[in-house]
Amino acid sequence: MEYKKFGNKYIIRIDKGEEIVDNLKIFCEKEQITLGWITGIGAVNKATIGLFKTDSKIYQTTELRGDYEITSLVGNISRMDGKVYLHLHINLSDINYNVFGGHLNSAVVSGTGEFIVESIEGQVNRQFDKEAGLNLYQF
Ligand code: FE
Repeated sequence: MEYKKFGNKYIIRIDKGEEIVDNLKIFCEKEQITLGWITGIGAVNKATIGLFKTDSKIYQTTELRGDYEITSLVGNISRMDGKVYLHLHINLSDINYNVFGGHLNSAVVSGTGEFIVESIEGQVNRQFDKEAGLNLYQF
């Protein structure tokens, strides 16, 4: 991973074989980004995506293997328990241009990964909400 800062924005390249979520977390900790958003494109050959089942409050996950384009990755940066908290979603298209999407747990870059992070001055923390079964923004 390499990156460069321009004002409050960062251009990031994540390289072949590197895992996206871990590297974005490392980047945010290093740059002390407490709030912001992320967009990205690229290619991966392994990904774990999920869906939160609102009735049972359980995350179902699926692993995808093979060549996939990241047709879009969007997400946000906040804090929980004093640590960086990333909430990322992804759409991945396969060789037949079928798209699969969901909550992003992990993905390994096969070609390159190109991301833009915009840092917002301030801090928003998350807290587990029993009713939703999710870690929600607290204001
Ligand atoms: Fe999600």
